[in-house]
Amino acid sequence: MSIQLKDAGLLKTQAYIDGQWVDGEEGVTFPVLNPATGETIAEVASVTAGQTRQAIEAAEKAMKSWRALPAKERSDLLERWHQLILDNQEDLAVLMTAEQGKPLFESRGEVMYGASFLKWFAEEGKRVYGDVLPSTQDRRSIVIKQPVGVVAAITPWNFPNAMITRKVAPALAVGCAMVLKPAAETPLSALALVELAERAGLPAGLFSVLPSATASAVGGEMTSNPIVKKVTFTGSTGVGKLLMKQCADTVKRTSMELGGNAPVIVFDDADLDKAVAGALVSKYRNSGQTCICANRLLVQAGIYDAFVEKFAAAVKEFRIGNGLEESTTHGPVITEKAVADIHAKVDAAVAEGAEVVLGGKVSEQGSHFYEPTILTGVTQDMSLFKEEIFGPVAPIFKFETEEEAIDMANDTEFGLASYVYTNDLGRIWRVSEGIDYGMVGVNETMISSEIIPFGGVKESGQGREGSKYGLDDYLETKYICLGGL
Ligand code: ADP
Repeated sequence: MSIQLKDAGLLKTQAYIDGQWVDGEEGVTFPVLNPATGETIAEVASVTAGQTRQAIEAAEKAMKSWRALPAKERSDLLERWHQLILDNQEDLAVLMTAEQGKPLFESRGEVMYGASFLKWFAEEGKRVYGDVLPSTQDRRSIVIKQPVGVVAAITPWNFPNAMITRKVAPALAVGCAMVLKPAAETPLSALALVELAERAGLPAGLFSVLPSATASAVGGEMTSNPIVKKVTFTGSTGVGKLLMKQCADTVKRTSMELGGNAPVIVFDDADLDKAVAGALVSKYRNSGQTCICANRLLVQAGIYDAFVEKFAAAVKEFRIGNGLEESTTHGPVITEKAVADIHAKVDAAVAEGAEVVLGGKVSEQGSHFYEPTILTGVTQDMSLFKEEIFGPVAPIFKFETEEEAIDMANDTEFGLASYVYTNDLGRIWRVSEGIDYGMVGVNETMISSEIIPFGGVKESGQGREGSKYGLDDYLETKYICLGGL
C-alpha cells in the first residue's frame, strides 16, 4: 500500500450501507489508481442495484426520526463532523491527491472548502423560516418549508470531497436523508468522509455511500425508485440529461451542476497583471479539470500581444509532477483517456489553423500528464470555441469591441461561470448583465465559497449549491389554509 496516513482507519474500501461497512453483494471490486503513477492504490467494493435499493429503504426509515429532531440537534452532528474533517485535514488531502492527482496544496484547500459547507449549513439549517400570508378575516394562509425527502446524489472525480459536502450538508441540515454514488475514480475521499461522519454520530441509514463500477446500475435504481424524491448531480451535461430523462417517470426534482465553457474577458483597460494572474489560476488549477475553469480567454486587440507574452512567461514557471511532492504546482490528468481527448481537441484546433505557443503534447512526465498548453490564432468558428476542454489548454481569442465580446461569451450552450477584467464601472455592469451565466467574477476568478450560490443557466444546469439559496434545493413549500376562524 503506497498511501501513508496518520490514521489508517480512514482508508476504507467497503461500501457504507445502513450504518454498516459491506462488500459488494456479488463480490465484485474495482481498482482505484493513482493517476500520477498508474499504480493501484486500493480495490474498492462495487455495489449493485439491489444494494442501492437497500440503502434507499434504510434512508427512508432513518429520515423519519431525523426530520423530527430540532434543527439544533441536526446542526450539532454537522458541527462535530466539520471538526473531525479539520482534525484529519492532512490525511484527507493525501488520500485525495493519491486518487485524484491534484497537488497537495490544492487538496488541502479543497478539504477546507468542503468542510466549510458543513459549518455553513449547520448554521443555516436552523433558519428555515415559513410565512404567514396576508389573509381574509376568516382564514389564515400559512406557508411552511419541509424536507424534500430521500435524496440521491451522484458526484464527479474532480472535487472528490467538496462536491459531496455541498450536497450532503444542506440535505441533512434540513432533515433529508441521502444516498451517494461517488465517482469510480475517487471513492476513497467519499468513504473517508462517511467514516468521519460515523465517528461524529451519524445515525444508521441517514447517509449511505455506494461506490460502484457500474454507474448505470446504481444510477438506474436511484432515478427510478419512488422513495427517492430528488436527484442531485454534478458531472457532464450528457449524463445530466440522461438522469433528468430517467427522473421524469417518477417526476423527481433534480439539481444539475453540469459542464461549463467559461470565458475570461479581458478588456484593454484592465489591470494586465491581475488579469494574467486570474486567468492563469482559473485555467490551470486542477490541471484544467474544473467546471468553472477558464475555457476561452477572450482578450481585446489592444492588450492581446502583451497578455499572451505575460501569460506564457508565467506558464513556463509551472512544475509538473506527482501531486504528493510538495514542489509540484500542477499534477496529472485523471486518466490516459482524458489525456487522449485533450490532445485530440488540440490537434483538431491546430488542423483548423491554431498556433501552439507552448505545450501541445503529452508530457515527458508520463502518459497521464499533458503539457500546459497555450493556443493563439484561434477563432470563433473552430470546434474548440464550443467545447469544454477539461484540461490544461488555454486558447486565447482576440476581440475588438465590447459588443463582440458579449456575443462571443454567449455563443455557447453552456452558462456556468464567467469572468470579466475591466476597470470601467459602466462596462462592469453592462457586461455582467449582458452575459448569460449563473456566475460572473469581476476582476476575480476565485469566486467559489460556501456563502455564494453556485450554479449555472442554459445547459450548465439548474439549482444552486451553497449560500442561503442552497437550502431551497432540499426543501418543499407547503401551503396550509386555516379556515373558519
Ligand atoms: P466525467 O466526464 O467528469 O467523468 P460523468 O458525468 O461521466 O463526468 O461522471 C460524473 C458522475 O456520473 C460519476 O459519478 C459517474 O460515475 C456518474 N455516471 C456516469 N454515467 C452514469 C449513468 N449512466 N448513470 C448514473 N451515473 C452515471
